[in-house]
Amino acid sequence: MSELLFLKPVFKQMIWGGNRMRSEYGYDIPGDDTGECWAISAHPNGDCVIENGIFAGKKLSELWTEQRQLFGNYDSDRYPLLIKIIDAKADLSIQVHPDDEYAKVHENGSLGKTECWYILDCDENATIVIGHNAKNHEEMEEMIRGKRWKEFIREIPIKKGDFFQINPGCLHAIKGGTLILETQQNSDITYRVYDYDRLSNGKPRELHVQQSIDTIKAPFEANNTDIQVTEMEEVTKTHFVTCPYYSVDKYDIHGTWNNEFKGYFTNVSVLEGEGSVNGIPLKKGQHFIIPNQYGVCEFKGDLSIICSEP
Ligand code: ZN
Repeated sequence: MSELLFLKPVFKQMIWGGNRMRSEYGYDIPGDDTGECWAISAHPNGDCVIENGIFAGKKLSELWTEQRQLFGNYDSDRYPLLIKIIDAKADLSIQVHPDDEYAKVHENGSLGKTECWYILDCDENATIVIGHNAKNHEEMEEMIRGKRWKEFIREIPIKKGDFFQINPGCLHAIKGGTLILETQQNSDITYRVYDYDRLSNGKPRELHVQQSIDTIKAPFEANNTDIQVTEMEEVTKTHFVTCPYYSVDKYDIHGTWNNEFKGYFTNVSVLEGEGSVNGIPLKKGQHFIIPNQYGVCEFKGDLSIICSEP
């Protein structure tokens, strides 16, 4: 019988980061500018360690290589997904990610990046950048080269519980006052097109203007995901998205809910509440992997969890 794999998150300090990882989740963060919690990650820039059971102390990347049966022998040279919490105290740069094809050629065989955001919390009147207002590729390039940011950038209001799918080529930015759970392809390739002329250690952060122009799709097309809510007796399931890289669902559990996850494996993040899974106590801020053919998970309590599968 396999065990659930609980992971120890890796934290990243960022010029736009804050301290809500500590105040909201009780994490031991490295500073008051902690922007990212890599919660389920086997990426070399932040490889999570298993906290429990027979694999305690192993890195997720090692398990992926040595114990692939835990992941249903999924065919990929690396763990395909990366789950993050992002605490944006200030605005993140305006950015875009390449697709697999562009990244393979221009980024040394890296994967591209498709990602999605679940808004865990945000300030009143918070907004987010998704897309742009240029009508074609030529105008997009003109607006970027001319630094016509106000005209160019498409900013929309958000609220807690919103969900956004960000495909490669979609201009985007998380704005200050927002806490997000991000599910993404296991890639760290970001092209920064505009950083509000901010300085980091006295210098502007690097921009990637040409790569951005190569990558941004124009005109912008809104990606309306078809969100489906299913109410059952002790659980409400919200299906957010199925795309070629992942599917993402939220489960709001009130009472006891038994489920057998049938995918290769399942990433689970506890967003709110407390309870247990098969007798193991669970609380907000924990992240674990349900391995392949684990069997039935019995969740108990008042819990909101987000699950993703490749
Ligand atoms: Zn992004």
